[in-house]
Amino acid sequence: MLTVTEARERILSHFKATTTETVPLIEAVNRTLAIDILADGDYPPFDNSAVDGFALRAEDTSASPVTLNVVADIPAGSAPTVSLQAGQAARIMTGAHLPNGADSVIPVEDTDFNTRHAGTVAPKTITFSKHINAGENVRPRGMDMRSGDPVLKQGRMLKPQDLGLLATLGYANVTVHKKARVALLSSGDELLEVDAPLEPGKIRDSNSYALAAAIVNAGAEVIRLGVAKDTRESVTGLLDKAASEKADLILSSAGVSVGAFDFIKEVIDANGSMDFWRVNMRPGKPLAFGEYRGIPFIGLPGNPVSAFVGFEVFVRPTLERLNGNMDGDRQTVRVRCEEEIESDGRESYLRAKIQVQNGIRIAILTGHQGSGNLLSLVQADALLIIPAGVKCVPAGSEVDAILL
Ligand code: AMP
Ligand code: MG
Repeated sequence: MLTVTEARERILSHFKATTTETVPLIEAVNRTLAIDILADGDYPPFDNSAVDGFALRAEDTSASPVTLNVVADIPAGSAPTVSLQAGQAARIMTGAHLPNGADSVIPVEDTDFNTRHAGTVAPKTITFSKHINAGENVRPRGMDMRSGDPVLKQGRMLKPQDLGLLATLGYANVTVHKKARVALLSSGDELLEVDAPLEPGKIRDSNSYALAAAIVNAGAEVIRLGVAKDTRESVTGLLDKAASEKADLILSSAGVSVGAFDFIKEVIDANGSMDFWRVNMRPGKPLAFGEYRGIPFIGLPGNPVSAFVGFEVFVRPTLERLNGNMDGDRQTVRVRCEEEIESDGRESYLRAKIQVQNGIRIAILTGHQGSGNLLSLVQADALLIIPAGVKCVPAGSEVDAILL
């Protein structure tokens, strides 16, 4: 049986990044940047004040107290024309352009014109007893970025703060990878719609919600196709519909095990091919990969936790590859196991809560690890990875964990 690593490599070898498109900046969040971004100039573009106060010449502040004549008023957004001479100051607001001649700013709170008196009209003079150093409370031109600096790398999934940076640089539009498109289906006669009352023997289709959300969360687009019944015809019908969507990936859950009504494998074989359908892992052994009518297909197990783990381990990396996302969205960290953990020798993914004690991440399993128990997944912050071949992890030892 394939190891997790072999299976993942085999899957990933079939995918490459989608082509690119240019989208309005506001739509670029969670999209993968397709170009390197360099600063086109210095930012901030001019020396400016870091505080509300008075721009002055540091050399004028050695006496105590100091009185300076206020010769100008510089609100944010203006371009000052004055040039400060000895003994002069200019009222200045945060972010406003420093006038010529000034090299520093005294905060208004440190002068006799304190905030209680501050109004729209500037005072004629200010008095204070404080030595100011050249450069104090000034944000010099180019402090944040210098012209030509590389600031964002191709392959980065854009975060809100990245959009702020791109806006600073004047990108109204930005070139990103096309979103990977995933056709998603569930399968099973027991599955009810989310709004249906429970009936004997039936459960609600939770996978199609958890997986659709995981797809969107990974920066891809989901085409939700609903639930196939446990018949050859129904499975064929829905897979044909999935193929007609010309998605980058068809993703199903359930029906790939060895049950009498598990038709997915058979239907894939009839109209495509199955590469493998089992991986040496827990949960999630029945995991299938192949193609259906020329479109790559991943069949996740039906149990909700197995489906989720299979998504994290195989589908998320696939979507990252398709989206051109080079960074990966999940962080793997070392954690210390609070208690002894038994394993069956398969590579295992266990749900745990992480508590930081004295700077060390301690992992505490979140209750019963049955692959149908969604609540223990909801309560978990991480999936602990118990390597293949390990039967017992002693209390206090360290393992890798994927932070969720
Ligand atoms: P199967 O792989 O079809 O044998 O399904 C394994 C288990 O997962 C069974 O207990 C199913 O009821 C459950 N299951 C399958 N699909 C879903 C789904 N979409 N939502 C919730 N549970 C499911
Ligand atoms: Mg089933």
